[in-house]
Amino acid sequence: MNTPTFSDLGLSEPVLRALADCGYEEPTPIQHEAIPVVMAGDDLIACAQTGTGKTAAFALPLIDDIATRSARKGDKPLVLILAPTRELAVQIDENFRAYGRYTGIRTVVVLGGVPSGPQIQKMRDGVDVVIATPGRLIDLMEQKAVSLEDVEFLILDEADRMLDMGFMPDVRWIAEHVPKPRQTLLFSATMTAAVRSLASTVQTEAHIISVAPPATVADNIEQKVMFVRKHHKQDLLLDMVKKQEAGKVLVFVGTKIAAIQVTRHLQSHGVRAAAIHSNKNQAQRQQALEAFTGGKVSVLVATDLMARGIDVDDITHVVNFDLPSDPENYVHRIGRTARAGRAGVAVSLCAIGDVPLLRGVERMMSRSLDVHEDHPWHSSRVAACLSASARAARSRARSGKARGSGSKWQR
Ligand code: AMP
Repeated sequence: MNTPTFSDLGLSEPVLRALADCGYEEPTPIQHEAIPVVMAGDDLIACAQTGTGKTAAFALPLIDDIATRSARKGDKPLVLILAPTRELAVQIDENFRAYGRYTGIRTVVVLGGVPSGPQIQKMRDGVDVVIATPGRLIDLMEQKAVSLEDVEFLILDEADRMLDMGFMPDVRWIAEHVPKPRQTLLFSATMTAAVRSLASTVQTEAHIISVAPPATVADNIEQKVMFVRKHHKQDLLLDMVKKQEAGKVLVFVGTKIAAIQVTRHLQSHGVRAAAIHSNKNQAQRQQALEAFTGGKVSVLVATDLMARGIDVDDITHVVNFDLPSDPENYVHRIGRTARAGRAGVAVSLCAIGDVPLLRGVERMMSRSLDVHEDHPWHSSRVAACLSASARAARSRARSGKARGSGSKWQR
């Protein structure tokens, strides 16, 4: 079947023009499947990870709907988007502004950690789309500084993450205050029982679309592992970064302390690096992210939680300085590279303590990672730690079919 174009999907001319400016040539699978459902006015549950183009999958039809209305009754928001982190909210806002640049669509980001005055003022001036993290939105609702009475579209983005972060009661409370009938779109990387339960309370007869089964990794990501003793990890990272010509490196660490230490080590050796973790305030995080996006720093060191909103197209390398304790996070992490169809490299540094985590990742993916031994800190002791049975499992898995869609977009 031929892939439809954006114009086949029925998007209007100002939106098509903005997409051309963004350099998007064709819809990604999630866009191709979700846009007609949203345009038909139906509720939607989409199982899709970051990196699949999911933001445009809901933003484009909503912008199109608002832009093509002949008359707009008032100045109160029509769309409410809830996101788990500030970084993701800002990213969604940037996407709306890029895709809506020829439509005059008005957006506001409502998030904590910054003064609420400008957010309130912006809403008074009139907005179409509110993009919010739950906590600050509830504050403003309680102060009656935001009115949701005209909202027709409720979008829950990264619903699984919102629930993981304990936002379930907040999300339900907010949803109860959004009038019905409405259209509710729920996006989630994983479809857990909690996500299904939330969906059943906020939606009616939703279409279900799944384009990114858990543990599917785009096949344009080269994945490898380096065995190293724990106390050599910093030097190995430094060496990799220094050898790295141009390019952007995103480093994942397990704790904020590690984020600080690793960043300092890199900086003390002349590497332009920044850290993003929950001890930093919103302005500092945004500053670090902008420095990385704009190329002022070439290495960003992040914890898993903070990494959620990092949407930078040209990350060439993801380094798992610490392996994630949840194997599914491995997929989220490495999906930060090889975005928008580019190639990327994901390197995991595995010390003795990481071996069980590495095995968990390999089991989940039904494949082994290529071992890269050609570095001065290679530890054969760590390598040996993978028991004979693990090796047998690894070679069995290697001969099995690696998962992956074969398409440049994650399915
Ligand atoms: P998302 O999954 O929404 O975080 O999007 C992942 C990345 O893909 C973002 O950098 C988008 O700008 C980019 N993107 C989204 N849709 C398309 C498309 N149709 N063609 C090319 N790039 C896209």
